[in-house]
Amino acid sequence: MEISYYIVRMPLKNPFTTSFGTDIYRESIIFRLSENGITAYSECVSDHDPFYSYEDNTTAMHIISEYLIKSLKNLPEPEEFLKSVSYIKGHNMAKAALEMLLYDYHARLNKKSLADYLGQNRGYAIPGISIGIDKIDKMLERIDEAVKMGYNRIKVKIKKGLENEILKSIRDVYPDISLSADANSDYTFNDIELLKSLDRYNLVYIEQPLCYDDLIYHSKLSREISTPICLDESITSSKRAEKAFEIGACSVINIKPGRVSGLTESIKIARIAMENNGHAWVGGMLETGIGRAYNMALAANNLIDYPGDTSPNARYYSEDLVKNPFTMDNGIISIDLKRPGTGIDVDSNALKKYTIDSGKFEI
Ligand SMILES: [Mg+2]
Repeated sequence: MEISYYIVRMPLKNPFTTSFGTDIYRESIIFRLSENGITAYSECVSDHDPFYSYEDNTTAMHIISEYLIKSLKNLPEPEEFLKSVSYIKGHNMAKAALEMLLYDYHARLNKKSLADYLGQNRGYAIPGISIGIDKIDKMLERIDEAVKMGYNRIKVKIKKGLENEILKSIRDVYPDISLSADANSDYTFNDIELLKSLDRYNLVYIEQPLCYDDLIYHSKLSREISTPICLDESITSSKRAEKAFEIGACSVINIKPGRVSGLTESIKIARIAMENNGHAWVGGMLETGIGRAYNMALAANNLIDYPGDTSPNARYYSEDLVKNPFTMDNGIISIDLKRPGTGIDVDSNALKKYTIDSGKFEI
């Protein structure tokens, strides 16, 4: 069996700024598996640099080539694959890339769409939008466009020192829109008064205000502020999600399949959120059309009850790696449940154009 990989560098339509820094292009790893007349694709959401998490493209390729790839032999079910690689600590993005490749393969083998293969779903995703930090008038312009396009929730990135300016300016113009803020860990518990001051903006939630691996201080913070807390970086597995709810560290979880080792854990986390009267939504890692299709299938699941960061493809890229991008109509993104697997139609010319390195594994 042969599995190919392509490291692609995709220019972003607009630079995307978070509290970590600014991205002008997205570098990700695409995997292609062809066996038994079925072709499956997946995307590893690690990036060139280890800023969102400790993983980056170099560590992901190392873990995949040295440890994970051999476990694809005999094409196990995704859950079986995860068990077989559980002896490797962490490296969830690397694991997720292959776990999801198996999801696409098995869904196609069973002639089911990935959304149906994952469970009961509504057949569409409810998109929200994530807006990076920029000059206030630029951010307001983007919000205006997003509201007109029918996005169901606006999320803005904030960072320490700019939060009140950003949120006040938005609320002055849009007192009633569904608004949330993502701090990407830019605060500490010592900023408690500053964080309390954000309660006045009536946010649906504040996302990951404190350290990327913290649960304890988020639990303390949740008792001090009225804004619900959503965790992103801190939730790396279903076990961590259980602990977070147990100690009241959050009431909302942003699920990114790559962060939690794939779709098996994503579904478990969404179920845990629901069982704890919490909420779950699907985040994004600026995926190309390949990774985006996985997020959409998950976002359509009945266990996901909040709008996610699942924008249509055209939001981030002028040219994508797929010929059938997702589009938004009347505030929803429909999924074609008749197409097997992720349903994507990969544009091999575009894949070639943006590939900066490629290779093959023989197993
Ligand atoms: Mg986030």
